[in-house]
Amino acid sequence: MKDKLALLGGTPVISPGDVPAETFDKLFRKMVLTEEAKAAAMDVIEKGSFSFTDVTEKFQEEFAAWQGTNYAIAYCNGTMALTAAMYAIGLGEGDEIVCSTKTYWGSVSQAINFGASPVFCNINDMLSMDPNDLERCITPRTKAIMVVHYYAYPCDMDPIMAIARKHGLKVIEDVSHAQGGLYKGRKLGTFGDVAAMSLMSTKSLACGELGVLVTDERKYYERAMAFGHYERNNENYIRECDDLKDYFHIALGGVKGRANQVSTAIGRDQLKHYDERCIEIRRAMSYFWDQLEGLPGFRPLRVDEATGSNMAGWYEPHAAYYPEELGGLSAKRFAEAVRAEIGGFCYEGGNFCLHTHPFFKTFDLTHKGVPSRIAYAGRDVRREDHLCDPSLKKYCFSAPRFNYLDRSVIDLYAAGYRKVIEKHRDLLTDDAHEAQGGRWYGSENQK
Ligand SMILES: *Cc1c(COP(=O)(O)O)cnc(C)c1O
Repeated sequence: MKDKLALLGGTPVISPGDVPAETFDKLFRKMVLTEEAKAAAMDVIEKGSFSFTDVTEKFQEEFAAWQGTNYAIAYCNGTMALTAAMYAIGLGEGDEIVCSTKTYWGSVSQAINFGASPVFCNINDMLSMDPNDLERCITPRTKAIMVVHYYAYPCDMDPIMAIARKHGLKVIEDVSHAQGGLYKGRKLGTFGDVAAMSLMSTKSLACGELGVLVTDERKYYERAMAFGHYERNNENYIRECDDLKDYFHIALGGVKGRANQVSTAIGRDQLKHYDERCIEIRRAMSYFWDQLEGLPGFRPLRVDEATGSNMAGWYEPHAAYYPEELGGLSAKRFAEAVRAEIGGFCYEGGNFCLHTHPFFKTFDLTHKGVPSRIAYAGRDVRREDHLCDPSLKKYCFSAPRFNYLDRSVIDLYAAGYRKVIEKHRDLLTDDAHEAQGGRWYGSENQK
């Protein structure tokens, strides 16, 4: 019964063993390491130089050259790099910072540590910041915009930068999903005043536990360095920011952001291969989505490369989902049916929208007796009714990310999605799943 959906007792499109274990590993492994990368990591281990900065300083130089910015600073993780970026641009008490609501919490939550308030902007059909909703979010208190290139889809930077300039706002880019990606021929992470990104082990540019901040501005570089570093918070680095000089030797944030050199050693080697690997991933992913072209129910997050934009390393491929085109079948049920056909990979929802989490409604970090998000806001930024408008809800599901083009295997995975779309009616009768699903962070089992 090849025709019957696997979820309803039919034979799955892909059965265990159909894709040999070795092929599976090569095709889907997130963190691919060369022998040179392993040797470089081992060298740090043998020398016990985890906490030194010699390797990290080389990594930073190479990263800045690759990124095309004057400066790069490594941090222990992406969340810390983003926190340093907020300090760099001077985010402070009573400020507001606008971010799209559908993202990982590390994009903007830490703004409350500065007494600033995250304000949430809506998303467009490609799940990224909707420039048409941006000006509504801006008030005289707005200091910055946090732009997240969500699931590697480059945000529409032309209108976003025009609005930022018009209102005199700083722009930080969170490039954690899209390292090396392009928007109209220009590298993501070079539009804003500062950019920061995670290079943790499941990101496209995977280096272990690592974050990087990049900028062209000396002042932002020095401030970011002083915030999360201490042995390098000294006269070699802090040359122009006189106001920081009294505080040499102690990290100004009271937080330590030093990168582990195992990760920066791996990072040096990953950088050498990354662009090449991304080209291959894009060939494979383009082929995959092409196989599903024209089917109802979804639009993949992808860009036309003829415009000079691209999907970088296609971090967590996703498609926007339109249940009304499949008889109202919920994203959750759809994904469940695809998983039954192909043995995983298809999960509904992406990150839940941040504005719905109690952290942004009630959490009182500093015991001020007021939710920290609005403790210094001067207004209740939690009134976000527009973000709950059901017509604006965006549903989505994920797809496998192929490391290289293997047509015969990719055809099998595409066939799994096609089968569910073609037979979706069989699922409608028992579709009791109202939920469109999602999760607070990446892990597939964590809801
Ligand atoms: C992973 C991620 C981060 C944080 O990175 P860590 O290295 O895990 O601290 C920030 N923003 C986004 C969008 C991410 O996906």
